[in-house]
Amino acid sequence: MGRLIWLLLLPILAFSSYVQPFKWKDGESFLTFLERSKLPLSLYYTMDNDDQKMTEDIPYNANCQMLVSSKNTIQQIIIPVNDELQLQIYYTLQKRYAVQVIPIVSETYKEILYTQITSAPYDDILRSTGSKNLAATFVRMFKGRVNFKKDLKNGDPLVMVYDQQYRLGKPFSMPEVSGAMIQIGGKRYALYRHKDGNFYDEKGAQFEKLLFMTPIRNSRITSLFTKRRYHPVLHRYRAHVGVDYGARPGTPVLSTGEGKVSFVGTSRGYGNTIKIHHVSGHTSLYAHLKGFKSGLHIGSVVKQSDLIGYVGSTGLSSGPHLHFGMYVGVTPIDPLSVMTKKTEGFSGKEHTAFMAIRSKLDRIFDKELLTKPLKRKGLDFANVYYVDKDSFKPKMF
Ligand SMILES: [Zn+2]
Repeated sequence: MGRLIWLLLLPILAFSSYVQPFKWKDGESFLTFLERSKLPLSLYYTMDNDDQKMTEDIPYNANCQMLVSSKNTIQQIIIPVNDELQLQIYYTLQKRYAVQVIPIVSETYKEILYTQITSAPYDDILRSTGSKNLAATFVRMFKGRVNFKKDLKNGDPLVMVYDQQYRLGKPFSMPEVSGAMIQIGGKRYALYRHKDGNFYDEKGAQFEKLLFMTPIRNSRITSLFTKRRYHPVLHRYRAHVGVDYGARPGTPVLSTGEGKVSFVGTSRGYGNTIKIHHVSGHTSLYAHLKGFKSGLHIGSVVKQSDLIGYVGSTGLSSGPHLHFGMYVGVTPIDPLSVMTKKTEGFSGKEHTAFMAIRSKLDRIFDKELLTKPLKRKGLDFANVYYVDKDSFKPKMF
């Protein structure tokens, strides 16, 4: 209750305070951040293991905010852990600092982009929306399917249907695309997101060749991926941005796919950790390892199912298991969503479900191609703040 009153009083007490936006630095740990900000390290040490581990998932470049009083006291710091949860450090009426994990309040809107090619899809999507994420997503979706350089002509239309989250009126987090199409010389290429989260073409054949494999043999999943879970007993929010596989110590850990090792080392929470960057833009993470394959180093090239390390219990781990994470850029995704088998088409109920998704999206595509809306409503990226991490000066794009 005391906390609630404090939150209600905050706007009054905050009078003449100012908000300083900043970005989470690459390689910064929660401890080094507290140290640098001259905040008590006990904020970290009094957290439980799960919360401590969660601090290691704060994405590099995350947009954070610091509320500073006129007397230069930090009143509150908000640090997003993912797009659903954030860490709040706040100064209490008892004049001490406290930290808690709270949900991020956001609204999601369905948006449609229609644009015509004037140079290249990436540039045209960026020009009309200001969203690099959206532009990159489109290019990744159609990569290998359409030769943008060769086949595309000026005036060819493209449509994207997606959900965009907004936080305090500003676009936030990765847009979630449900379908996209591009028409080249009258021929339409479309991709539809099925219930399983993957994209399929008109025939229901999986186009994305994301054939990542389970990084461990003869094991069972002991914990699934979640960005936000409310613990009914502890009355707290939790996140688990990976999949846990229970296995005996020493069990070989294999690379989920071809790629280049981008990290081999140790961290407090994840213990001995390996990260592998894959050509598709994904990064896989293997944590709590007992050890690494000898000779493995940053830059090592690995093939799918190559031995990279051994199951252990290093870091903040309750017992021997492999924590396996998957990221697109710095955004954690459910590893299981990219480990599905390639299908040539659906059958039965699955086919009916896919056809319903497809025809709904096709109707949207058709309408957009017919009406050619020049300016979309309800989307304004002009006010997005990108913070220059070196100077902390907000700059407008
Ligand atoms: Zn885990």
